[in-house]
Amino acid sequence: MQTKLLINGQLVAGEGESLAVLNPALGTTLVEIAEATPAQVDIAVRAADAAFEGWSQTAPKDRSLLLLKLADAIDAHAEELARLESNNCGKPYQAALNDELPAVADVFRFFAGASRVLQGSAAGEYLPGHTSMIRRDPVGVVASIAPWNYPLMMAAWKLGPALAAGNTVVLKPSEQTPLTALRLGELMAGIFPAGVVNLVFGRGPSVGEPLTTHPKVRMVSLTGSVATGSRIIAGTADTVKRMHMELGGKAPVIVFDDADIDAAVEGIRAFGFYNAGQDCTAACRLYVQKGVYQAFVDKLTAAVASIRLGEQDDPETELGPLITQQHLERVSGFVERARQVPHIQVTTGGKRADRAGFFFEPTVLAGAQQDDEVVRREIFGPVVSVTEFSDEAQALEWANDSDYGLASSVWTQDVGRAQRLAARLQYGCTWVNTHFMLVSEMPHGGVKLSGYGKDMSMYGLEDYTAIRHVMIKH
Ligand code: NAD
Repeated sequence: MQTKLLINGQLVAGEGESLAVLNPALGTTLVEIAEATPAQVDIAVRAADAAFEGWSQTAPKDRSLLLLKLADAIDAHAEELARLESNNCGKPYQAALNDELPAVADVFRFFAGASRVLQGSAAGEYLPGHTSMIRRDPVGVVASIAPWNYPLMMAAWKLGPALAAGNTVVLKPSEQTPLTALRLGELMAGIFPAGVVNLVFGRGPSVGEPLTTHPKVRMVSLTGSVATGSRIIAGTADTVKRMHMELGGKAPVIVFDDADIDAAVEGIRAFGFYNAGQDCTAACRLYVQKGVYQAFVDKLTAAVASIRLGEQDDPETELGPLITQQHLERVSGFVERARQVPHIQVTTGGKRADRAGFFFEPTVLAGAQQDDEVVRREIFGPVVSVTEFSDEAQALEWANDSDYGLASSVWTQDVGRAQRLAARLQYGCTWVNTHFMLVSEMPHGGVKLSGYGKDMSMYGLEDYTAIRHVMIKH
């Protein structure tokens, strides 16, 4: 197992405290890895800074070729990477291999192409005798901080656009799930010039903070919780860095009387519980119109009760464990408190699964009301709430009445209603009659406490550039 950091083109062991990396399906330790020390973080940032001049001046087609090589290496090692991801996250192996790995390689291929078509606006004479033009240039050293829920995918979302735009990077994966990123580091060491991409391992306070606050870091890109986002923003204020924040979510799912109810139930069974619901876009906050409410709850309860929970290697497994014991306790706490609320019914699930590892049963909480904790707060587990609504205006008001603004969906056969809601929902994304679907060509990112900045798409690439004006006197 690759456990070394990547610093300035070299694989080196961390010299800090050793941390246990777990298999959450069994609760056992997979390996112990030593964190980077602040001195190692400093060396990594300085290496990235030294490499910036050369990398930022490479022709886009040359950067593109290296990103394509990386995508090919990911394909060539897909089974090994899926195995690592599955062991370290508890994800079903088949889902890691067939859903995530192809999407990871595709992100690098998309940005390989995108780097060659990044444009500024056309030149023009806005002052007589002077020609102005716009350049989009890389920002500098980017500190990229990734979460534990899709470790390799989040590494790809961060590395792809940053490198394609000509920045150099120091990536810190989550201390809970570093294994695929560390292996990716080894693959990247054979592809990119020394210092262009660096990888450090460790926790937020010991490694994340020295990294994000480093004066040579010009941009911080975080996917993580709101609390971590605000801490980083506050901690870096005096060095005025560019920020790219992809934070939490609590996606509303509005199901109208005229929706295809079976399709909606099937969609929520899939998109509310994928990755054990540990997904910032998870279809978790359901609003169902009163005419179909009871039938919907009955069908959803049966569908969710049929989700197969189990170990990674069982091909029948649909739902893996939560990431840690601590997270299991957090999710259980939400459900236990909901159980005490008289108007909420736990129609299926509702407790820790009776087996080793950090499994929680897939759970439906019906009868929830707008001010309930389970409607307002991000649970980040296999738990959905269902709330009855009467009309379109009420559904829209409740859906928007949230601190978060990442993803939303509307289920209806009425195209006019779908358009009206899509125009008014305060979310980075609105799906109609589906949920969860992402493509490399389209932006992903939130509003409100869900953050700002876009991942993927040309907008994602542009986020990793600085707009500059060049004026030439004739
Ligand atoms: P987290 O905020 O606990 O950790 C995220 C990363 O930040 C980790 O690598 C962690 O080590 C690091 N970190 C923590 N404190 C830090 C500090 N002070 N300085 C620098 N780095 C620090 O989040 P998590 O528990 O790993 O992930 C779950 C959260 O991520 C959820 O809230 C989820 O919604 C969010 N998320 C958002 C998106 C999105 O696209 N918006 C995608 C996935 C996950």
